Amino acid sequence: NFSENGEQTVTTDAPLRHPNSKVALNAKKASLQAQREALPCYEARQALVDAIMANRTTVIVGETGSGKTTQIPQFLHDAGLTKNGMIAITQPRRVAALSIAKRVAEEMGTRLGDKVGYSIRFDDTTAATTKIKYMTDGMLLRELLSDRKLSKYSVIILDEAHERTLRTDVLFGMVKGIQRERQDLKIIVMSATLNAERFSEYFDRAEILYVQGRQFPVRTFVPATQLEDYVDAALVTTFQLHQEQPKGDFLVFLTGQEEIDNLQKLMEEQARDLPPNCPKLLVCPIYAKLPTDQQTRVFEPAPPGTRKVILSTNVAETSITISGIRYVIDTGVSKVRSFNAKTGMESLTVQPISKASAQQRAGRAGREAAGFCYRLYPEPAYRSLREETEPEIMRCNLAAVVLMLKASGVEDVVGFDYMDKPARTSIVRALEQLYALGALSDDGTLSPLGQKMAELPLDPVYSKVLLQSVTYKCTKEVLTIIAMLSVDLVFYSPPDKREQAGAAKKRFMNYDGDHLTLLNVYQSYQEVAGDPAWCADNFVSARSLKQVAEIRKQLVAFTARQGIDANVSCGTDNYEAVLKCFLSGCFQNVAMRTPDGSYKTLVGNQAVYIHPSSVLFLKKPDAVVYNELMHTSKQYMRNISIIYPPWLLDVAPQYYGRAAARSTV
Ligand code: ADP
Ligand code: MG
Repeated sequence: NFSENGEQTVTTDAPLRHPNSKVALNAKKASLQAQREALPCYEARQALVDAIMANRTTVIVGETGSGKTTQIPQFLHDAGLTKNGMIAITQPRRVAALSIAKRVAEEMGTRLGDKVGYSIRFDDTTAATTKIKYMTDGMLLRELLSDRKLSKYSVIILDEAHERTLRTDVLFGMVKGIQRERQDLKIIVMSATLNAERFSEYFDRAEILYVQGRQFPVRTFVPATQLEDYVDAALVTTFQLHQEQPKGDFLVFLTGQEEIDNLQKLMEEQARDLPPNCPKLLVCPIYAKLPTDQQTRVFEPAPPGTRKVILSTNVAETSITISGIRYVIDTGVSKVRSFNAKTGMESLTVQPISKASAQQRAGRAGREAAGFCYRLYPEPAYRSLREETEPEIMRCNLAAVVLMLKASGVEDVVGFDYMDKPARTSIVRALEQLYALGALSDDGTLSPLGQKMAELPLDPVYSKVLLQSVTYKCTKEVLTIIAMLSVDLVFYSPPDKREQAGAAKKRFMNYDGDHLTLLNVYQSYQEVAGDPAWCADNFVSARSLKQVAEIRKQLVAFTARQGIDANVSCGTDNYEAVLKCFLSGCFQNVAMRTPDGSYKTLVGNQAVYIHPSSVLFLKKPDAVVYNELMHTSKQYMRNISIIYPPWLLDVAPQYYGRAAARSTV
């Protein structure tokens, strides 16, 4: 039911073209070195190094997969640029930082964590010997807190600049400022899309280098009408193509872990019923919170007689390149964080991607040979997409960023040199929220509490919760719950075992809500020493809980640095302390039940609903605190607990005291 829309992705034309670019890339047989040498960036090596040496700031544009991220840091290392400092390469996504560092360590024949390492939240492999450091943009921002000139680094590469993530955008301004004081610092901005002029202009008209890519034509197919359910459409399309089309792996773009896990199960079930003469189907998920050992699986070639289907979030759009892909299935959506400055609510929403993203996605099918892209949305829907993704800074809650700026010595957060300036109201809201959390003093400067909050690798709200746990004497419990909230999916429910899964979940249930239910799960998990069989019996994701244990360990290390005793516990009969403690940070995330059984948020008075996954779904208490909002068919509150409204004045007098005063005027 697809028809071809006549669109073909085009090859970029650029000055760094080299005549001998016809080297056949045979990933399986060629050695790593041969693979390196076949990359477009490798061919442009000398030109790239010369230009970087001659300029303080360089902008590099090249198609995804041309070798920018893996090769350029190695060239600079070989050219001697790491003699006086490290090279930092920032990535918006942890999966990318980690998998690329691994690859580069292999290419350089060194152990990961030696000359090449990565640093992501809750996981740092770098050592004193590290020269090339792949890191998330958030980690480099964090380093600014203790080293305002980033003096460890001789080169800072801001990679995936086209993504315009909140943190990369802030880094633009910070490193630009640092370079004014540090003549020796080189800045490189790397992007996969052609509109590099913005970056060049912002960095005082920096030189732009284009790396000639090698893109094969990709034929795009679209359905005649809008499909009802894109996950179902992805499933049907995959199996149809698998039985009809010649070999080549599939890449399906989806929005997040839950969706990917579900589709993986459905595909694996359906794959069992394939006719015997049909090749096997190997389903490989890839998303940020997938444990590391499983992330590497997507890069391994499919065994003979097998076709690989990669189910990926946006990470495979430009951050990582997986070889073997000839078919892309594009759902046309991705999950984004958005913030409503009017209501003050931030929520995760599945939204249509941009045209630029749709083209990037299609391009993934044409890395090694001519390919095919199946869009699961019709032509008019494509035409209505916005040209470019809006920079995240324009649609996010800025509290974390403003706190980071303040803690890095930027007092004037409104006048900061943003590449795109966020709305003034968003900045003011962030300042208000930080003030209400106690992170800012009356004069707008960082308070001692704010300083401590900035040092924790958490959203300001959870930093506050964790720090307050000392007062409420429940640090042990709070650490566990925060770690549990950091993973997407704790419980799972296979379609054929819904009842058993539901019954299993009931055993952990705490009638005060999801926070304490999650605490029960982790405590039971620890009692059985993380036994995977226990996880399976209880329909609890062993993958996620392993991750929780890891995150918790890291958080304990952070709290230890601040002199907080991680073992202080409220015991089992004072759980009220835990809930109050959460409320002391999440006091803006409160909703009250209305007579018709729906809920209204206290801030903004918006209609919200209890997510069906919550243990409070049927109970519908009068007042709840929620962890996050997720917008699907409605605004759903996820991870919620019962609270008593009088607590609000106790835990957030600055906020609710003032609001009350305002309403009586
Ligand atoms: P760019 O940054 O220009 O998008 P990369 O440097 O990320 O390109 O990738 C260059 C090539 O390195 C890719 O085409 C891919 O074949 C290979 N590669 C990168 N990461 C991995 C990995 N983790 N495993 C195997 N191959 C990889
Ligand atoms: Mg890259």
